[in-house]
Amino acid sequence: MRFYSTNNPSVRVSMEEALLRSLPADRGLYMPETIPFMGADFFNSIAGGSLADIGFQISSALFKDSIPAHKLDDLIHHAFPFDTPVVALEDGKTHVLELFHGPSLAFKDVGARYMAAMMGYYLEQSNREVHILVATSGDTGGAVAMGFLGVPGIKVTILYPTGRVSELQEKQLTTLGQNITAIEVDGSFDDCQALVKTAFTDFELNQQFSLASANSINIFRLIPQSFYYVRAYGQVKHLGKPVVFSTPSGNFGNLSAGALAYKMGLPVHQFIASTNLNYVVPQYLQTGIYSPKPSVETISNAMDVGSPSNFVRLVHLFDDNFDTLKQVLSGYFFDDAQTRQAMAEVYQQFHYVMCPHTAVGYLGLQSYQQTNPDVCGITLATAHPAKFKELVESVIHTPVEIPAALEELMNRPKHSFKMKADFAEFKDFLLQTA
Ligand SMILES: *Cc1c(COP(=O)(O)O)cnc(C)c1O
Repeated sequence: MRFYSTNNPSVRVSMEEALLRSLPADRGLYMPETIPFMGADFFNSIAGGSLADIGFQISSALFKDSIPAHKLDDLIHHAFPFDTPVVALEDGKTHVLELFHGPSLAFKDVGARYMAAMMGYYLEQSNREVHILVATSGDTGGAVAMGFLGVPGIKVTILYPTGRVSELQEKQLTTLGQNITAIEVDGSFDDCQALVKTAFTDFELNQQFSLASANSINIFRLIPQSFYYVRAYGQVKHLGKPVVFSTPSGNFGNLSAGALAYKMGLPVHQFIASTNLNYVVPQYLQTGIYSPKPSVETISNAMDVGSPSNFVRLVHLFDDNFDTLKQVLSGYFFDDAQTRQAMAEVYQQFHYVMCPHTAVGYLGLQSYQQTNPDVCGITLATAHPAKFKELVESVIHTPVEIPAALEELMNRPKHSFKMKADFAEFKDFLLQTA
């Protein structure tokens, strides 16, 4: 399988190049040269298949010419020891696709663990070493740290803004040790991101290290996210209704992965782009005009994105055709008061606890079902409510339990390096710890 750039489809690179370099030089986004059409037999056969089983079959269709089947099978079953179950709420119309059963309790585990598995495979072949740099505002760093922990040939340095991530998130970044290093930057998330971006363009650092990124525009984080849409379809197909997915969105990687599954032939009736007040995509669907804005802060903060980096890919998957896109994609947005109210309502009515991002997805699905009642609605639960413990507890007035594996992290000592938002200092640090 080769990959092309959305900016120049005649440029083709190897799987290894797309995996390790993340971004083409022309600033486009990598896409697989062909998206395999999986066909009705496949979608009829997957009801009992686990996330890993489905992941293996789709990965085989994509990469059988690059990685031997038995190796691919091992890599994927190792990457996905957890499942992505669909839970039905008692209202008889809402299904929740729980994507938070991985180690960092957010859907980003799926992409990070698959990417780590693939990188580990290529580095083992070549005896190379790669140094991954990530800036995080919370969730990405945890998934990357836990996904890449102990993978031979990989060193990870995570930069996060001091005092701006939740306690649980910080524990995920700073207590693992081994090949994971955390830097606490005296500054904002944007400062962290600027340091990482400058590092990628620094001549000396690039001579010294093979630098790589693990952010969500890497196509290898996106591909595995298509698996759980397929897995969810397998769990609700017996209901015999048209299937609708509502995806709480920020950078639109998750929704693009749904579009990828659709291109593979997954029979989806409608996708719903659900956002907070960072509503550029719902607005685009209304008006046909795409106008990115500076982000605004909300309680669903992993979706506070004003210029979604996967928008290009989403539109590209629908053949750059607005009418095609509009037929399969609806958009809705909600403010914090509506989000809190939805969290409270779902808890009161169904005793189900949603994180604020999931509640935005739930609201989007409700809006769509008002005019389209006879569908099977699935909303994606992107994080475990315990990740946003204080906020959730303040809304539902009931304690939220932290799962045992994470409770254990809470007791471990924190290790981080403190640093100013200063590139010279960051560069020295990298060169000295090489
Ligand atoms: C990252 C994240 C999102 C947004 O996903 P995108 O792929 O960027 O649209 C939503 N919810 C949670 C909990 C997240 O961590």
